[in-house]
Amino acid sequence: MRRIVILGGGFAGLHAFKVAARGLRHQIAAGLVEIKLVSRDEYHTYHGWAGEVLSGELDISATLSPLYPMLCESFVLGEAMKVDLELASVEAQTPKGRTSLTFDHLVIATGSRDPLERVPGATEHAYRVKYTKDLQACRRRIDLLTEPKSVVILGGGLAAVESAAALAERYGPGVVSIVAGSSFPLSCLVNYFPRLVDHAHKVLNRQGVSVLPAVYAERVEKDRVYLSDGSVLLSDLTVFTTGITFDRIDGLEILPGNALGQLSVDAWQRVEGYDNVWAAGDIALSRHPGGKSFCPSDALWAMRQGDVLGENIARSIKSRRLRRFTFKGMGQAAGMGRRESISQLYGLQFTGRIAWLLRVSFFAWHMPYRGHGLRVFSYLLGVGQSPRCGDLRPPASEINDDLTQKSDCNRGDGERTHRQAIR
Ligand SMILES: Cc1cc2nc3c(=O)[nH]c(=O)nc-3n(C[C@H](O)[C@H](O)[C@H](O)COP(=O)(O)OP(=O)(O)OC[C@H]3O[C@@H](n4cnc5c(N)ncnc54)[C@H](O)[C@@H]3O)c2cc1C
Repeated sequence: MRRIVILGGGFAGLHAFKVAARGLRHQIAAGLVEIKLVSRDEYHTYHGWAGEVLSGELDISATLSPLYPMLCESFVLGEAMKVDLELASVEAQTPKGRTSLTFDHLVIATGSRDPLERVPGATEHAYRVKYTKDLQACRRRIDLLTEPKSVVILGGGLAAVESAAALAERYGPGVVSIVAGSSFPLSCLVNYFPRLVDHAHKVLNRQGVSVLPAVYAERVEKDRVYLSDGSVLLSDLTVFTTGITFDRIDGLEILPGNALGQLSVDAWQRVEGYDNVWAAGDIALSRHPGGKSFCPSDALWAMRQGDVLGENIARSIKSRRLRRFTFKGMGQAAGMGRRESISQLYGLQFTGRIAWLLRVSFFAWHMPYRGHGLRVFSYLLGVGQSPRCGDLRPPASEINDDLTQKSDCNRGDGERTHRQAIR
């Protein structure tokens, strides 16, 4: 029996599972291969809809896809606490206690986290949007704040601009400020996509968002943000969307990587120096196949890396030649409020409604359950009911790309655990 253990049920982990399970379906059916996916969350989170959740356009449950119905008995709900690379075992904390899983192949797809420690006070006082529980807390605060005087967004990237636009739409002009930490928001894109940056700035301007360039937050308190130029911004709601960092699971410190904690992988998604330890998604420090320095950390790259990784594990078990990661990118997008976006597809720049349509159709298509994606899409188009969690139980035919290994999986349980998770 060959055992594959995947850590993380996000974009990369789920795609690695899907492709490996498909490539090894005969071996799995014959009991020669077993795949386990360990996730501390009961659901996959679609971060791309965070703007719609903040603006109130989507319920938070629209971003969630329960893992159990997709993975069935391959799913282990728990947090991987320790990896012993010599003994080839993972220790996970599950609701029933500690459990140990042995592996022949280990996949690390644990994503990234917000670097809250970079701004004193952010852990206690800033709201976050990455993890579902954080986004839920942020949304609750937003729902309670009917007439805030000041909302401060920390960050200058796509997530910051998206959050600012969503909240400006909700609260009106003169309330939201962006503390970009750089010369201006989206400055990292200006050389490649000047039209998108220009359009984003115009929309923010129209929405009455104040942009504070070239200052960064030095400290966050409950009702204010101290800035690097000595000024203070009063804030009823501070949202942290600045940068990412990485946690190494105990036992993985010896793996090669950068100072932030990402793991260096080769062109086949193997962690450098290892034949049976693989990484994909945000946590993987993967050389860009086009010669640029490294692959960006976003969902599209995570999915593509997960696909190649899953295929290569299957090939490795079947003693076939591995496939290189050759994906060179496809596009980027950010929501700018209701039916407004900036998007680039293969370098072509789109703004306004066309960009919005491109963005939401692409996102909906890539949700783990195709039926759920379609419900979200049609709701955003203005037809159909709000895609709340009650709609999430997918008939077998709806699951995207036969993600399940076995058809007799108990979908009712998956729905129940999902409901518990977001309560
Ligand atoms: C607000 C926001 C908006 C975004 N918008 C976009 C967008 O529009 N387009 C885009 O392409 N990208 C977007 N991104 C980035 C994108 O979401 C990430 O790049 C993507 O999620 C990375 O996928 P991943 O599989 O590496 O990690 P994730 O999807 O984060 O999955 C990692 C999973 O591993 C789990 N995990 C972590 N540690 C452990 C452990 N020890 N044991 C068990 N499980 C563990 C986590 O709980 C999580 O479920 C956005 C991100 C944010 C925060």
